[in-house]
Amino acid sequence: MSRLVIEQIAVLSDNYIHLLHEPDSGATAAVDPAVAQPVLDLLAARGWRLTHILNTHHHGDHTGGNLDLRRATGARVVGARKDAGRIPGLDVEVGEGDTFLLGHAAAVVFETPGHTDGHIAFWFPDSAALFCGDTLFSLGCGRLFEGTADQMWDSLSKLRDLPEHTRVFCAHEYTAANGRFAKVLDRDNAALKQRIDDVARLNAAGRSSVPSTLAEERATNPFLRADRAEIARAVGLPPGTAAALVFAELRRRKDVF
Ligand code: ZN
Ligand code: FE
Repeated sequence: MSRLVIEQIAVLSDNYIHLLHEPDSGATAAVDPAVAQPVLDLLAARGWRLTHILNTHHHGDHTGGNLDLRRATGARVVGARKDAGRIPGLDVEVGEGDTFLLGHAAAVVFETPGHTDGHIAFWFPDSAALFCGDTLFSLGCGRLFEGTADQMWDSLSKLRDLPEHTRVFCAHEYTAANGRFAKVLDRDNAALKQRIDDVARLNAAGRSSVPSTLAEERATNPFLRADRAEIARAVGLPPGTAAALVFAELRRRKDVF
């Protein structure tokens, strides 16, 4: 069992790259490196050597730094088997239920289709850390570019079932905007109100709202609450409507919010 040191780098307008360092072996991974230079700078500052690049999906704002980092460091690129051919430099192909070892730290791989067909998430249980890319966001979820609402609901349900102390390291700072949508739907949710206030304070101080915990997301994220009567009612569907249908309606409304 080995606990990771986790660093966050804010890049582009709202992307996060996470650097994971496993202290016993020195193994170090960059998760979803949109760009290379800020990663190289932080590696130099910490005296770490990059051994892996973990990609949750093929979009350019998650893989743009792959080839430069691989060339500069020799790091191996880990990504979905289903994305072979569209993840630049893919060396190690993984799929549902695979274990990936970063030094002595083990991650379980989940396939989480919806945002893209090949989207995956990496869960490091000993570090209580989930890297979920553009599937689950704080107070929101990714758009359905390639998958169906049914698939995305299944993917989110899988992540929702992880231990509640799990820290949710998503790939974008979208929380405040997501909160504006969430509060319209879930007006009486005190935990949501509190979270929105906390995020406003964090953003005003120039600080990140990521990670949240899964406990917080379960209590506040409308997309994880599609099986609750008050959320169905809020989108005009009768209580007892299948959660995947409520989810589909939530996603449709958010797309045009
Ligand atoms: Zn994406
Ligand atoms: Fe993205």
